[in-house]
Amino acid sequence: MTKHISLLGATGSIGIQTLDIIKEHPEEFNLVAFSVGRNLDKAREILRDFKPSLVSVQEESDSRVLQQEFPKIQFTYGSRGLVEVATHSDTSVLVNAVLGSVGLESTLEAIKQQKTIALANKETLVTAGHLVMAAAEKYQTSILPVDSEHSALFQSMNGENRSEINKLILTASGGSFRDKTREELADVTIKDALNHPNWSMGAKITIDSATMMNKGLEVIEAHVLFDIPYDDIEVVLHRESIIHSMVEFQDTSIMAQLGTPDMRVPIQYALSYPNRLPRKNAKRLNLVEIGKLHFEEMNMKRFHALKLAYDAGRAGGTMTTVLNAANEAAVALFLEERISFLEIEELIERIMDEHQIVSKPDLETILHVDAETRKAIQNMVK
Ligand code: NDP
Ligand code: MG
Repeated sequence: MTKHISLLGATGSIGIQTLDIIKEHPEEFNLVAFSVGRNLDKAREILRDFKPSLVSVQEESDSRVLQQEFPKIQFTYGSRGLVEVATHSDTSVLVNAVLGSVGLESTLEAIKQQKTIALANKETLVTAGHLVMAAAEKYQTSILPVDSEHSALFQSMNGENRSEINKLILTASGGSFRDKTREELADVTIKDALNHPNWSMGAKITIDSATMMNKGLEVIEAHVLFDIPYDDIEVVLHRESIIHSMVEFQDTSIMAQLGTPDMRVPIQYALSYPNRLPRKNAKRLNLVEIGKLHFEEMNMKRFHALKLAYDAGRAGGTMTTVLNAANEAAVALFLEERISFLEIEELIERIMDEHQIVSKPDLETILHVDAETRKAIQNMVK
């Protein structure tokens, strides 16, 4: 049976690769609705390739422009538009590949409509994981990970008894600066930071990989998704990005998922789950060609942002909301060349130090803390 899909963030790195998968399997998947931010040229391309019934853009003026060009399609905009796309009545699966905590409300609303959620938008789980997981349980829907590490963990514990897990081992490529000392990080440029050795991704997550905050967000994401304590989540540096993560069980067995670094694999798995589909022209992993795989201990002093994320996760409550919002705001400032690379984590640490944690926050509190944190970061650099 064809799965009908809503896609948030269609013009992004994950969004475009999701469209590739939908195109590869026209019998299996059908694009019902999608959202974009401000990239109208790419939106037009997608509109010519697919026949969705609803499209959302960030700005109202852009929705009017596109409405004139594509009169048969319905256009909407803004945060309400994201929710409308996510909850479209024809949709059974929501792929949330929007960037940042703006994806939270639409995830929650789609869960209430019992849509299956294929989640790339990790910020949603970092900022309000307990609300998302509680809603998924209440409305009996699945949250299927798109993030490669979490897809690997999910696949490695498939059919297993979760109470028999000893620990999760997340692999990290190390990002653009894995061979630089902390001293050498002082004057790195945006261009250097955006040059990831293994993966081609959006700008924000590429910077997050360079600071190692991406792995920190992923540790929190893993804790939320699989309900494993932080003490039992380990990160290991693995330069080749071939093993995408591992699960160790109490009998000492380790299950891992391997593959070439290609996000279309976990995207497709989230869409086809519980089945697997062929990938005709994809590059297959040849271990003989690779020969060796390398693993190194993660140095928490060198990768300070990873430590901050563990601290925030262990502190709990609104602290992970603060971590995420501060990181989003600080990375944006770095990309605008207003702060240096190391100032990203300095700002996050300062704001975490000042924060008074609210435990078990409701949605309103989370949205408030998120907005206040962003404002505070802006004020710190003024
Ligand atoms: P991109 O920056 O490439 O794409 C982001 C998408 O979100 C674009 O479609 C953009 O629209 C849209 N968008 C951005 N801000 C807003 C906003 N305020 N309102 C509405 N739409 C908005 O990001 P990625 O694809 O790299 O990442 C998306 C998510 O997936 C992130 O949460 C990331 O952490 C996660 N992820 C990404 C991976 C990757 O390989 N890229 C791997 C694992 C997880 P537009 O461009 O039209 O303005
Ligand atoms: Mg990842």
